[in-house]
Amino acid sequence: MGAARQLEIAFDDAPRWDAPSLEAALAHAAGKPLRLVLTDNRSVLLSFRREAGVLQLRLHQMFLHAPGAVVTALARNLRRRGRAAGGEVRRFMNVNLHRVRRSPRTMPPLVTAGRAYDLEAVYADINHVFFGDSLEVPITWGRGVGRARRGGLTFGSYDPVLALIRIHPVLDRAEVPRYFLESVVHHEMLHHHMGGVPDRAGRTVYHTRAFREAEARFPRHQDVLAWEKENLAFLLRASQALDRARKAERRSRKRQRA
Ligand SMILES: [Zn+2]
Repeated sequence: MGAARQLEIAFDDAPRWDAPSLEAALAHAAGKPLRLVLTDNRSVLLSFRREAGVLQLRLHQMFLHAPGAVVTALARNLRRRGRAAGGEVRRFMNVNLHRVRRSPRTMPPLVTAGRAYDLEAVYADINHVFFGDSLEVPITWGRGVGRARRGGLTFGSYDPVLALIRIHPVLDRAEVPRYFLESVVHHEMLHHHMGGVPDRAGRTVYHTRAFREAEARFPRHQDVLAWEKENLAFLLRASQALDRARKAERRSRKRQRA
């Protein structure tokens, strides 16, 4: 699945449709007349309403790249009055988020070897046990910058544009049990796997109920929560120390250059 997605992005970047042919294909698949407006709106990728018996559908222009199966799925969702952005359609939107941004971000160098943990090995274990080796998502130790939040730390993040997982370097220490690091990697891999779900206002929601249920299937979920609660203060201090060390290193590099 991961490989197919990547190939689609890398090699098949020409649009499959123009606006009239996409409108015709959607109307045909939905079995009813509809009016299609293409947008380059950055937050609402899909919306629709009925007007005088005609479906008015607004789609981000990324849908010009939609495979036939996605068009069929979208038409089916519209016909059933279900969640228009469900299933296949949601996955397509998530994979194509890079088309929404104006300035493409670039993939940083990936660093997986750590002092205490090899992220690549942790990732491979989780991929095997929970995802049947099906995921293909780059992972790296982050730099630990800009991630501190009031009252907590963001241990990991998933960037849907780059499809990249970053793990906070504060977790790369022997005091952190492997299962805790695993749970963070698992959480971020779930983000890649499940994607976001547009809410009624068109905003993307990631920590849905389904997400929380999947997350709780991690076998030591309760241990993870308990360990975090007990060690959060320690981790905060450790991350502040990392921060100071990084700044000191930057200052000494500056002095050497001066
Ligand atoms: Zn999350």
